[in-house]
Amino acid sequence: MATPLSHLAVPLALTLALGPDSMPPGLMVLALLCAVLPDVDALGLWLGIPYAHPFGHRGFTHSLFFSVLLAAAGMLLAPAVGAAPATAFGVLLVSAASHGLIDALTNGGLGIAFFSPFSSRRSFLPWRVIEVSPLRPAALFSRHGLRVLRSELRWVWAPCGVLALLGIALRELAG
Ligand SMILES: [Zn+2]
Repeated sequence: MATPLSHLAVPLALTLALGPDSMPPGLMVLALLCAVLPDVDALGLWLGIPYAHPFGHRGFTHSLFFSVLLAAAGMLLAPAVGAAPATAFGVLLVSAASHGLIDALTNGGLGIAFFSPFSSRRSFLPWRVIEVSPLRPAALFSRHGLRVLRSELRWVWAPCGVLALLGIALRELAG
């Protein structure tokens, strides 16, 4: 996995890019949840579910199908958070699916089961530029941990920052 904090970069960038009219605070909270929820499967490591199992780490909960399920469930809450259902679905789908895509850029662990439950094949993207994060948070406070954070700044936070600024600029131009 990438560090849980870096998975928040995509929904935060979407929040800034879309602005409060399209993306009220309640939708932002749902998007943040969708972006980190796939790592709930890390609990399986403690429950004895093997990493390579279909429900193991980077398995079903990292799939595109699970992202669609999360987005559809979140869309039902759209009226409660004051968002348009279509916007909510889109934002939540991108937030949830970004999790697996970011993990697929890391250089360690097993690949992502993008097409679970239809295929249990694990894959990475062709560019594995992000240092994989240690599963023990304490291990982040080390030389390797610094390398992880530096690579996430470069490959996750910087592009998300650009995306956010572009969105803000486009909104300013349109407004
Ligand atoms: Zn993950």
